[in-house]
Amino acid sequence: MLKAYLTHLFARFSRIRSTMTDTCIFCKIVSNEAKATIVYRDEQATAFRDIHPAAPTHILIVPNKHVESVNALQAEDEQLIGHLFTTAARLAREEGIDGDGYRLITNTGIDGGQTVFHLHLHLIGGQRMRYPMG
Ligand code: 5GP
Ligand code: ZN
Repeated sequence: MLKAYLTHLFARFSRIRSTMTDTCIFCKIVSNEAKATIVYRDEQATAFRDIHPAAPTHILIVPNKHVESVNALQAEDEQLIGHLFTTAARLAREEGIDGDGYRLITNTGIDGGQTVFHLHLHLIGGQRMRYPMG
């Protein structure tokens, strides 16, 4: 009985680990398995330059833990999400774009244009943004 439960737990854990480390490019960047130009890192978040920048400043801010999208957020993640925003504000200051302004985007799901399924904030600035957004 205990053995079956432990086997079940192990299988579950392996599946979660496999989603995180084997296939998720942002998990690999967080763990240094994949290269990126890291501009900030702490115990909760990592920020790195987008490989295909849409503007002079284009930084991705990601939680170090794997969260698929906004849809997967739990109440206990509220502090983490606040931290992603204060990290964005800090990086905007460091990039010198806080005065003129910038855009923060979190695409969610297919219709939202999400292509990497590890939650991230795009910090985009250094030029006047265009409208409409949709
Ligand atoms: P999404 O489309 O999910 O909102 O944004 C994903 C972003 O990740 C895109 O802007 C894309 O250019 C960027 N991206 C995808 N793969 C990599 C990568 O391996 N390294 C870096 N630095 N950015 C990536
Ligand atoms: Zn991930």
